Amino acid sequence: MAVGVLALQGSFNEHMAALRRIGVKGVEVRRPEQLESIDSLIIPGGESTTMAKLANYHNLFPALREFVNSGKPVWGTCAGLIFLADKAVGVKAGGQELVGGLNCTVHRNYFGSQLQSFETELSVPKLAEKEGGPDVCRAVFIRAPAILEVGADVEVLADYPVSSDNLPSMATRGEDKEDNIGPLDKVIVAVRQGNLLGTAFHPELTADTRWHSLFLRMGEEIGERRLQCITTNSDD
Ligand code: GLN
Repeated sequence: MAVGVLALQGSFNEHMAALRRIGVKGVEVRRPEQLESIDSLIIPGGESTTMAKLANYHNLFPALREFVNSGKPVWGTCAGLIFLADKAVGVKAGGQELVGGLNCTVHRNYFGSQLQSFETELSVPKLAEKEGGPDVCRAVFIRAPAILEVGADVEVLADYPVSSDNLPSMATRGEDKEDNIGPLDKVIVAVRQGNLLGTAFHPELTADTRWHSLFLRMGEEIGERRLQCITTNSDD
């Protein structure tokens, strides 16, 4: 299974290193045609506006959308999660181009600026269920986004309580009226929807490789299901 890592900007080296730690050699992806030869894709964290500009420069958006729609596994971390969201708020004037596919609304800078970056322990029962180990994981939030709303087809893997400390300031809101967030008691920070995985934090910056293993397992499960479909159809 060839695992691609979008290598335009941001923490792609760290994802490559995390994959190496579990014995997988990732493939750095910079051009649309490279998407044809990989089985799954990680979109790293970084800065989503810059990443979108670079993706546009390399004409990657159509191929990225096609990849997402093909049903192959895609994992977006932080800026990568913003890329995958169907809708983003708190974006700069002029908008933010998205790949889309993940049925959710994301706030691009929910947790604030670099100075408000933090580390915490998150409860993720699904991670322990699938990969073993404790049902908490260390999570690094850097200028992090948060998911405000998800569609019915989205499984919430982890959420985070809203407090006066992490309510987005005016400075991190965009100019859109829709950016005015209603009362929420928690925000969502990890989700899965079919072939798509999204985390608002950076698992590649911790020693815990269970998120990378979980993502690879998603690929195996999806591959097996496809195979079953082909076999069942050919039995007809
Ligand atoms: N909030 C950042 C953005 O808009 C993402 C931060 C990150 O990926 N660490 O792109």
